[in-house]
Amino acid sequence: MSVLTDLIYGGSHAVAGLTEGAVNDAIAKYGADKAVAFPDTAYFLPTIYAATGVKVKTLGDLPACVGVLKSLITDQEDLGQALNAGLATAVGAEILEALKYAESDDPYADEAGIGFVSDPIIRSLGVPLVTGDIPGVAVVLGKADDPADVVNVVKDYQSKGIMSFLVGDVIDQCIEGGVKMGLEFRVVPLGHAVTAVTHVVTVAIRAALIFGAIEPGKLSDLLTYTKERVPAFVNTFGAIDNVVVSAGAGAIALGFPVVVDIDLGENQVPGALESVTDHSLTVKKSLELRNIKIKVTELPIPVAFAAAFEGEIIRRSDMLTEFSSHANPTCELVESVEAGSIEDHKITVVGPDIPAGGELPLATYVKVAGAKMQPDFESVIERKFHTWFNYMEGVMHTGQRNLIRIRVNKEAAAKGLTLHHFGEVLYNMIMDEFDSVVDKCEVTFYTEKEKVEEILNEKALPTYNKRDDRLASLTDESVDQFYTCILCQSFAPSHCCVVTPERLGLCGAVSWLDAKATKELTPTGPCQPIPKEGCLDERLGRYTKVNEVVEQATQGAVNSVTLYSILEDPMTSCGCFECICGIEPASNGVVVVNREYAGMTPTGMTFGELASMTGGGVQTPGFMGLGRHFIASKKVISAEGGVKRIVWMPKELKDDVADRLNKTAKELYGIDNFSDMICDETIATDTEEVLEFLTEKGHPVLEMEPLM
Ligand code: SF4
Ligand code: ZN
Repeated sequence: MSVLTDLIYGGSHAVAGLTEGAVNDAIAKYGADKAVAFPDTAYFLPTIYAATGVKVKTLGDLPACVGVLKSLITDQEDLGQALNAGLATAVGAEILEALKYAESDDPYADEAGIGFVSDPIIRSLGVPLVTGDIPGVAVVLGKADDPADVVNVVKDYQSKGIMSFLVGDVIDQCIEGGVKMGLEFRVVPLGHAVTAVTHVVTVAIRAALIFGAIEPGKLSDLLTYTKERVPAFVNTFGAIDNVVVSAGAGAIALGFPVVVDIDLGENQVPGALESVTDHSLTVKKSLELRNIKIKVTELPIPVAFAAAFEGEIIRRSDMLTEFSSHANPTCELVESVEAGSIEDHKITVVGPDIPAGGELPLATYVKVAGAKMQPDFESVIERKFHTWFNYMEGVMHTGQRNLIRIRVNKEAAAKGLTLHHFGEVLYNMIMDEFDSVVDKCEVTFYTEKEKVEEILNEKALPTYNKRDDRLASLTDESVDQFYTCILCQSFAPSHCCVVTPERLGLCGAVSWLDAKATKELTPTGPCQPIPKEGCLDERLGRYTKVNEVVEQATQGAVNSVTLYSILEDPMTSCGCFECICGIEPASNGVVVVNREYAGMTPTGMTFGELASMTGGGVQTPGFMGLGRHFIASKKVISAEGGVKRIVWMPKELKDDVADRLNKTAKELYGIDNFSDMICDETIATDTEEVLEFLTEKGHPVLEMEPLM
C-alpha cells in the first residue's frame, strides 16, 4: 500500500473508532431518544442527510450511520476507494461535532471558534459568491511552524476577498498576528479540534441542497455539485497526522484541492494534493488549482481596499473625522453632463479635509459623461459609493443621498488618507465598473457648510425628487420590457429571476433599473430584456414572452412562470432570498419572514425551515423567496389578494416596511395603518393566538376567499 493510502486509511479507522465509541457512550449516558441537531438548520446532520437521505434526529439514529461510515473504509489500494474513506472521516467528524451540540446548547461558547454555521448565513453568502465578490473559499487548518506564514497567507486571502475558514491553532496564530476576524472580515474561526472542519464541509454540502436542489441521497450528484460549483480549497500548516490526511482525502472527494506546506514528495497527487513549502507561493498555487481568478484593483491610496473591510465598524472612540447628516448637511450626487463641460480624472477638495478632524459637512459631487450614459444610471452608480467607501480599511459608510455617515478612523488618517483618495476610489471604480457608459468623470468634494448647502438644495434635492417621481411612475404597466437575471445560475443552475419595475430580484440587490444598467454594461451578461408581449392573464401576470425567455434562460427547466402569484407557477427561488413568503393555512393568509429572524413563526417553521421548502431554481406553490422591497409593492402576490394576505412578520421587518406597506394598503383598499393589523413575534407565534389577534384587529384576510 502506498504511504498516502496508508495514512488515509489509518486516519479513517482512527476516526471511525472514536466516533463509534463516542456514540455508544452518549447513548449510554443520555439514552437513544436524546435529540441531536445542529442549530438553525433545516438539513439535520447535513453530510449524512445529503449523502444518504437519512434525517438524523436522535442519538438512536447514529449507530446506523456509524455502520455506513465503516462500510466506506475498504482498505483497498485504490485512490478512489481511499477518497471514500476520506468521506467516512468527514461523516465521523460531523457526528463527533453533533455530539457536542447534544451535550450543550452552545459548545463553542468558550472557544474562539464559532462552530456550526447556520443556514441563513449560507444563504447570505449566495449573492457575493455569484457576483465574484467572494471569489473563493479557503479552509486553513493546522498550526504553522512560523505564525507569520499563516498570518500572511490569511491576510492575502482577505485582501483578495476570499473567505477563509480557520481550524486549529492557526486561529490563535492569526488573532495574535492582528488578523481582523469575523464573518464581516471574511475570516471565520471555526474551532480548534480538527473535527471542526466539518463546519465548513457542511457549508459546501448545504450549498448543494439550498441552491443546487440536489436530492438527498444522491451522493454522486452532490460530489459533482461541490466540485464544479463550490470554489473551495484547503491549506494545511505544520505537521500533518493521519487524521488530517484522511480529512484532506474527504476534501478531495468533494473536489477541493489540498495544499500542504510539508514536502510530500512522490505522494503528491497532481491537481488534488500538492506540496508548497515556500509560503509566498501558497496563495498563488491554491488559486491556480481551483482556477480562481482575482481581479486586482490597484488604487493610489494609502490604505487597503478590499471587500473584506466592507463590514468594518468604526467606533466613536477610534474615529478622527466624521461626516454625518446628523450634525451637518451632507449629500452624494452623480450627475450626467455634457462631455465638454468636465475634465477627466480631475479631483478637487474644497474646504477642510480629513486631517482637520471632528465633524464636517460633506457634498460628494461626481459628474460623468458618456455617449451611452443615461440619467437612469446615475442612481445605480451613486448607490455603489457605499460599497466602495466601505472597502477602504479604516472607513465606514452608511446611508445614501443626503442621509449619510462616513467615519474615518485615526489609523487611516495617520496613514495619510484624505478626501483626494476618496476621489481616486470613485474615479477608478466608476471607470472600471461603468466603463461602457462612462467616458469621463470628475469628482469634487465640498466640506464648507455654505457650499454643501448650495449643492444640496440646488442640485441634489431636486435630482432626488426627480428620480423619485421617475421611480413612482415606473410600474409594470408603464414599461415595455422586463429583464431576466440569471446571476445565481452558478449555484442554482435552473433559476431565473424575472425583474420588473415593481418586483425586484429576490436577493434584493437587483432592481429593474439595475438590470437595465447591467444589460447596457454587459450586453451578453445575466440580465436580458423580455419584451412585454403576449399577456395571457393579467391577474396572474402570465405572458407568453416571459415563459419563452425563462424557458430559454433555464435551459428548459422552467417553462411557465407568473409574476404575481404564489400558488400558480410562482417564480423560482435560488436560495439567497432576503425574505421567504409562505402560506399560513389557519388564518388563510401568508407570513413573510426575513433571513435575520431566527425565531419561530406561526407556520411552525423557522426562516431556515420555511426557506428549505423552496430554492434551487424549483417552483414550490405556496412558498416564494422575496426581496424586502417587494413586500409593500402593489404587485406582491396580487393574484391572491396582495398585501391584505399578510398576517404575520417579524417585528423588525414589519417596522422596516410599515410606512410603504400602509401607503399601499391605503391606496389599494382604503385601510388605515394596516401594519398594526399584522401580528409579530412580540404578540404571538401560536396559530390560535395569531388568529385571535387578527380577529381583534379586524384583519381583512378574515373576509377573503379561501387561499386553497
Ligand atoms: Fe440572483 Fe435573482 Fe438576485 Fe439575480 S436578481 S442575483 S438571479 S437572486
Ligand atoms: Zn440567488
